[in-house]
Amino acid sequence: MKITIDNRTFEAREGQTVLQIAKENDIYIPSLCYHRKTGQAGKCRACVVEIDGMRGLQTSCTVAVKDGMKVTTNTPKVRGAQKLVIDLMLSSGHHDCLSCEKNGNCELQDAAYFLGIEKASFQLAEEKPADISSEFIIRDKDKCIKCGRCIEGCNNTVVNEVLAFGDRSSETEVVCDNDLEMKDSTCVQCGECVQLCPVGALIDKKSVGTGRPWDLEKVNTTCPYCGVGCQLTLHVDRKHNKIVKVTGREVVPNDGMLCVKGRYGFEFPSSENRLKYPMIKKNGKHERVSWEEALDYTAKRIKEIVDRDGPDVFSAFGSGRITNENNYAIMKFTRAVVKTNNVDHCART
Ligand code: SF4
Ligand code: SF4
Ligand code: SF4
Repeated sequence: MKITIDNRTFEAREGQTVLQIAKENDIYIPSLCYHRKTGQAGKCRACVVEIDGMRGLQTSCTVAVKDGMKVTTNTPKVRGAQKLVIDLMLSSGHHDCLSCEKNGNCELQDAAYFLGIEKASFQLAEEKPADISSEFIIRDKDKCIKCGRCIEGCNNTVVNEVLAFGDRSSETEVVCDNDLEMKDSTCVQCGECVQLCPVGALIDKKSVGTGRPWDLEKVNTTCPYCGVGCQLTLHVDRKHNKIVKVTGREVVPNDGMLCVKGRYGFEFPSSENRLKYPMIKKNGKHERVSWEEALDYTAKRIKEIVDRDGPDVFSAFGSGRITNENNYAIMKFTRAVVKTNNVDHCART
């Protein structure tokens, strides 16, 4: 079918919404509670538009397209309503973009910029203490706009069922289990809620103060931890040659989701404790040696021990962090050279 948005005609498919067609065609309509993964929400009402033949303003994230539909996103009435919604969101929290971790990557900030809102017109809310109790996530309740994306993600995407809305009316807030601190809740720190949050209300703790989004190089890669092959983006501080943050890529097989290791276990590449060369313990102390010496020594000792006690005293462990080919070589070496079946792999848990 065909629909018209701001006098331009676009192709649309049955079941799509007006907002989806606008997004597909790079027409910006402020929207905060909608995310492809969490689906239609119709909560924040920032995405209102006018549609010919329909009374009042319509939330573009919930209206299904119809052939011949005519949509307008930029009348004074639409802009006025969008402005009020965003202004009230800013007013019902405490938004200090200068020091906010989300600065430069915040959907509320983008909407305010687009609509020309410099600061909140009202101050409606008391400040609330942030929940910094958990290992990897900061919950800054002052910046929450109650869009519900984190709740949808936790319950329906990763299905950990930790988050919900608690209390009512202006007191409504996102709670963990029965309003526990995050560290005491059943949260597994997967960070899906952080990734889905459009504002700075959920923040990766380890990344605070480590660099602005525009200063970090983004490198797409595969998670090195297990065989699922989750796709992720490393956020790299090139000046210090360090990974400072990890986000999941919304492609197969993980569609943005990661586990706690993939998302938050990113320090090892730049760890001071990392082994960078072979060492042999001599007189009770590890000493750096050449690869030739290390390999000759290891081969000699394996042969001595296996000749003396038989092949089953030997066992080898492969690793999820090396290639299939390396793991294959370990298996072949253990079975064909040493002649034992004592070979295993860390990913077998
Ligand atoms: S959450 Fe967004 S709007 Fe609020 S302070 Fe942070 S950057 Fe600014
Ligand atoms: S980190 Fe994962 S388990 Fe914990 S609240 Fe967020 S989505 Fe739920
Ligand atoms: S924490 Fe973030 S994702 Fe969750 S309701 Fe608040 S603003 Fe939305």
